[in-house]
Amino acid sequence: MCGIFGIFNHSQAAELSYFGLHSLQHRGQESAGICISDGEQIHTHRGTGLVTEAFGHDQHLQLSGHIGIGHVRYTTTGDSGLPNAQPLVFRYTGGQVAVAHNGNLVNAGRLRNQLERQGSIFQTNSDTEVVPHFIARSGPPIEQAIQDALRVIEGAYALLFMTETKLIAAQDPRGFHPLSLGKLADAWVVASETCALDVCGAEFVRQIEPGEMLVIDAEGLHSQSFMEPSSRSICSFEYIYFARPDSEIDAISVHTVRKELGRQICREVPTEADLVIGVPDSGLAAAIGYAEESGLPYEMGMMKNRYVGRTFIQPDQELRRKGVRMKLSVVRKAVEGKRVVLVDDSIVRGTTSGRIVEILKAAGATEVHMRVTSPPIMHPCLYGIDTARRMELIAATQTPAEICQKIGADSLHFISAEGLISATDRTDSSPNQGHCLACFNGNYPTPTS
Ligand code: SF4
Repeated sequence: MCGIFGIFNHSQAAELSYFGLHSLQHRGQESAGICISDGEQIHTHRGTGLVTEAFGHDQHLQLSGHIGIGHVRYTTTGDSGLPNAQPLVFRYTGGQVAVAHNGNLVNAGRLRNQLERQGSIFQTNSDTEVVPHFIARSGPPIEQAIQDALRVIEGAYALLFMTETKLIAAQDPRGFHPLSLGKLADAWVVASETCALDVCGAEFVRQIEPGEMLVIDAEGLHSQSFMEPSSRSICSFEYIYFARPDSEIDAISVHTVRKELGRQICREVPTEADLVIGVPDSGLAAAIGYAEESGLPYEMGMMKNRYVGRTFIQPDQELRRKGVRMKLSVVRKAVEGKRVVLVDDSIVRGTTSGRIVEILKAAGATEVHMRVTSPPIMHPCLYGIDTARRMELIAATQTPAEICQKIGADSLHFISAEGLISATDRTDSSPNQGHCLACFNGNYPTPTS
């Protein structure tokens, strides 16, 4: 869970990086940073909190240059404080390099131990920092040094590197998290999601391919394959929950997939009810799809206070509980005396779902039938999405019937894994071909340490 943004050859690289990060804010809210190169030196500003807080006094405007990379962070490995904020900047024998990472490296702990035993001193406890250490060991040219580093790390990584003169993007061989290339007049833009290209006015060109390293310099684009692509393992949660609905992943609209997920679960479990509502925001498109498929009316039954952070990505359990009450409220007139189909994207710990059912019933809903557009989450994510540890995952220890009782719903159904795959309309649809489903079925696409 992080967002990365890069731009090459634009006189307003800092401003556009700021706009790009702002549009990726949903991917991480703990810290933000931008590095800008003027061709000779890399200038950096990083801060904690939202992009607007980290750059509260327009600090980005003080970064001048034409190449930039930026990062918004949500912590899945390491602490959430400023020392771990990215981009990380380091110096090796070839000059300065900045790095921004989305994903999680499953062998970072082992590599770090190995490096420390050999004398390396780490500045952070972020998994990403092993990458610069391996780059420093290889030495220039930077393209070769990065490839050497990428061949030892394992897990999920969409990476951006910037030297004084180059922007380099790399995607792990399974393509866990999206990374898109865009063109803006004479400039190139690379971003975690296409919504960040849109916000700068850049045109989508293509995805960075699994196992590809793309070097952008004054001579243009140079694509190199640093590793044979493995079977594609795009994170299913990018479609279900995480990506912005106005983004496209592999040319498939996230919004369209979410609507289809709603249609699909309706086909799997038709339900007698009076209306359909969605949990804002990522449940709304699925609720509309459910309503279209079922013929039931769709209602705006819940409102979200947009000025409270997302509960799913607040690291602390108590804050998450309070956050639900602050964040969601019910439109009483819409649900009073009604049998409600409630569509949500996932159940992680069950706390949020229980609170939502409770406030719907308190507002007069006579029945609440919960439909979830992801299968039960039974295993932790190792690849950068904070789906909680296994002990905390309610579906790891309780059956759907038990969860239903615990959250106080009248019925509860999760979409099937097959239904999830078919809703994304990808051609390679056999299990674990094309999608990562590890948090549902425990089949991790990489070695796990
Ligand atoms: S384990 Fe789940 S959350 Fe993690 S990458 Fe795979 S599908 Fe996404």
